[in-house]
Amino acid sequence: MIKGIPATVNLVRLSSFVLDILTVIIYYKVKMSSLDRIKELEKQRNRILKQILAFRSMLPGAYKEVYCKCGKPNCWCYKKGGHLFRRITWSENGRSKTKAIPEEDISWIKELTENYREFQKKRRQIKELERILKELIGEYAKAVIKKSRRQRDYL
Ligand SMILES: [Zn+2]
Repeated sequence: MIKGIPATVNLVRLSSFVLDILTVIIYYKVKMSSLDRIKELEKQRNRILKQILAFRSMLPGAYKEVYCKCGKPNCWCYKKGGHLFRRITWSENGRSKTKAIPEEDISWIKELTENYREFQKKRRQIKELERILKELIGEYAKAVIKKSRRQRDYL
């Protein structure tokens, strides 16, 4: 097992992308030298970075449909249901913000909030890959030093 990666018990908690990465790592741990593994991870990292930089529009926040009674006693909503409101809610400087969405912007808002979620997911993937890269570079350094010391009897 690679140092720093939680044992089997915690695997359940890891999201799928971490598991994907883990599978790749375990595979390469067996099949490849640390140099090859580093190169492979670097490729993965660059691929995800390219995907991240391809996002041209995104919005943090969640799209929500809520039903609210308007409060007028003679309105139909007084007795049943409520009026449909479409909102976007996000957090800004620690404060929650909510705005009504015009009908024509619903799919636009949905698309952009989904973009943001994807963007954040890829960001976490990069962070995880970089963490593993750092470990592998450490392993690589040890291996190279060991090999170099073997070249002289006194080292
Ligand atoms: Zn009403």
